[in-house]
Amino acid sequence: MVDHLVSEESRLYIFKKPILCHICSHDIFIPIETFTDVEKPGIQVTFVHNTAICQQCGFVIQFGDPSYYDNENDIYRWALDQQFINEQPTPEAHEPFIDADTIAKYERCIHLSLQILIQHDESPQTMLNLYDNAEYLAIANYFDASYEQTNSQLITRDCLGLLLRKLMDKNIADSDELIKVLQHDDNMHLESFLKALIMK
Ligand SMILES: [Zn+2]
Repeated sequence: MVDHLVSEESRLYIFKKPILCHICSHDIFIPIETFTDVEKPGIQVTFVHNTAICQQCGFVIQFGDPSYYDNENDIYRWALDQQFINEQPTPEAHEPFIDADTIAKYERCIHLSLQILIQHDESPQTMLNLYDNAEYLAIANYFDASYEQTNSQLITRDCLGLLLRKLMDKNIADSDELIKVLQHDDNMHLESFLKALIMK
């Protein structure tokens, strides 16, 4: 969080929520602080106006600064934050590395989850074809149309997560039990938990 914005190309945030252009929805701006005297002629009491120029369409947005003093914790909560465009790390730098064994386990659990959902008529049979082609994004999108991700490791993990959520939502798997398994999952627990749910 910052106490004032620097006039450089950047993404802007209010309490971590990105500011988007009202016209074109792009998120890169050059912010400009302007000051006006509260009283005219003033005695150095000024009011800050935050404005920013959209670098896509040139529209000028104005926004408030909801920073506040947090009495309970005795600190000042700055609301505004700024991430300069030229300093941003490449997205890959932040993406977690998931080892091959874990990915293989996710894949086996995706397979098991799909089989269970198909048995309960909660998934079309064709999902297994997508599984055979490792099209986990397509599977994830079937269960959550708004799901977006580009990192293939994360897609595999999230695809499993979506299938497990479906199993819980449809009461096919007991939520408390499944959550307990996930919390203590060292390696094989989730797999045996899912295997037990497959109807013989
Ligand atoms: Zn714009």
